[in-house]
Amino acid sequence: VISVSGVTKKFGATQALHDVNLTVEPGEVVVLLGLSGSGKSTLLRHLDGLEFPTSGTVEVLGSNVPKLRPKALRALRGRVGMIFQQFELVPSLTVLENVLTGALSRLTGPRLGIWAYPKSFRLAALNHLDRVGLLEKAYQRADQLSGGQQQRVAIARALMQNPEVLLADEPVASLDPESSGQIMRLIREIAADDGLTVVCSLHQVDLALDWGDRIVGLRRGEVVLDTPTEGLGKAQVMEIYGRVTTST
Ligand code: ATP
Ligand code: MG
Repeated sequence: VISVSGVTKKFGATQALHDVNLTVEPGEVVVLLGLSGSGKSTLLRHLDGLEFPTSGTVEVLGSNVPKLRPKALRALRGRVGMIFQQFELVPSLTVLENVLTGALSRLTGPRLGIWAYPKSFRLAALNHLDRVGLLEKAYQRADQLSGGQQQRVAIARALMQNPEVLLADEPVASLDPESSGQIMRLIREIAADDGLTVVCSLHQVDLALDWGDRIVGLRRGEVVLDTPTEGLGKAQVMEIYGRVTTST
């Protein structure tokens, strides 16, 4: 589904990614781990065509992403859902309206208010809200929800695209530990039910071990670990972060 080969990305003098290779099989849940600035977001952005490599190739769902023309790139983005640390909901809109905006790439013309969407879309949006456990919040303003609930709305919004791939950039970084586990569980359940392929960056090693099929560790833009979580210990993963120095 995803094949990144020899990707190097430079921002001026900064080398954000260095000779990165990554293949992701259909239905896999891959977790990217690494310190701040290690290149997690940059790598994810390459998978959605939001960044293009300085050198190397990025293939997603059979397309050579950097070579796509704008129209084909839009079509590809429609097959790739994305969620973020800050949820990126429209605070003044209702939960249902926020979910419906996930379908905008499948429609033409402006859509103001839920009645501007076809009935099948409204039913789909309610169904997705039900799946993330928020049907009863459909008509509340998005900014009245807790962080964990807002991330659920963002997941429902991503599902409106009927995505084949879900990219999640630190989806639980602003949540408490309990909500974090719940969101990761939800992502996994949905991925299994819908056959979604997931690439998710995280900060917490424990969550990565609990919810990932495979961990890819980045250090200063380089892949320093690429291992199935099965049988992997926390100490082995901590190696990504280099030597942990203890003060005496
Ligand atoms: P964090 O955990 O803090 O989100 P990250 O692993 O997602 O970090 P990236 O955001 O991918 O790290 O950044 C990798 C490197 O690339 C950093 O040195 C960053 O400053 C640099 N970088 C990322 N985007 C840009 C940009 N648009 N312009 C210039 N430098 C950038
Ligand atoms: Mg980041």
